[in-house]
Amino acid sequence: MRIGVISDVHANLIALEAVLSAIQPIDQLWCLGDIVGYGPQPNDCVDLLVSQPKFLAVAGNHDYAAIGRIGIEAFNRFAALAAQWTAEQLRPTVREYLAALPTLTSSGEFTLAHGSPRGPLWEYILNARTAQANFEHFHGPFCLVGHTHVPAVFTLDPAGDVQAHRVAGEAEVSLARPGWRFILNPGGVGQPRDGDPRAAFLVVDTERATATWRRVSYDVERTQRLMRRVHLPDRLADRLAQGH
Ligand code: ZN
Repeated sequence: MRIGVISDVHANLIALEAVLSAIQPIDQLWCLGDIVGYGPQPNDCVDLLVSQPKFLAVAGNHDYAAIGRIGIEAFNRFAALAAQWTAEQLRPTVREYLAALPTLTSSGEFTLAHGSPRGPLWEYILNARTAQANFEHFHGPFCLVGHTHVPAVFTLDPAGDVQAHRVAGEAEVSLARPGWRFILNPGGVGQPRDGDPRAAFLVVDTERATATWRRVSYDVERTQRLMRRVHLPDRLADRLAQGH
């Protein structure tokens, strides 16, 4: 089975469309949260994702903020402005869909969370120390997380040693390591933060036992124009071209 894993779409429909065509063929599509927030097309992104066959998702902090389930006090000024704008745009059916998303779910050997299994909405796994603590918070060999918008892999070997690796560009990692456990981050679709403006995604192939990180270019300027047209903060549009 080939599983497409995406995260942090952030209402960037143009990036999402590029990823959904580059990610084929897949049997399932899993999204690790933050479908909305920051970007200009929140309703369209939810509509497109829910129309995908075998789609599974968890909620991110921006999804819950947009429906008022969590406050925006912890957001920076630009994120808070975007969350308010998003809240005003959401259609009732989209709002209901986001409200029904769990913060944690699992499928087979995989646990899915936005930030981390220990703190699904807010915790960032950016280093080996945080990863180590989180290996105690899920069962099975694999956990998939987003939230940082930085592609990465964290491994726990049978001796208990935890390693953290950022994934630059495109790369493939073998998951065929008996006794090892993995936390995998696909990077961000709609707002990459690793210095590479291309949309990031991951394909897990359970037969080959591989995780493959991929990037795809999209029309960044078109997304920026849409953001400026609806008066989302310039800072949020500018950062898309820089990938951070
Ligand atoms: Zn995000």
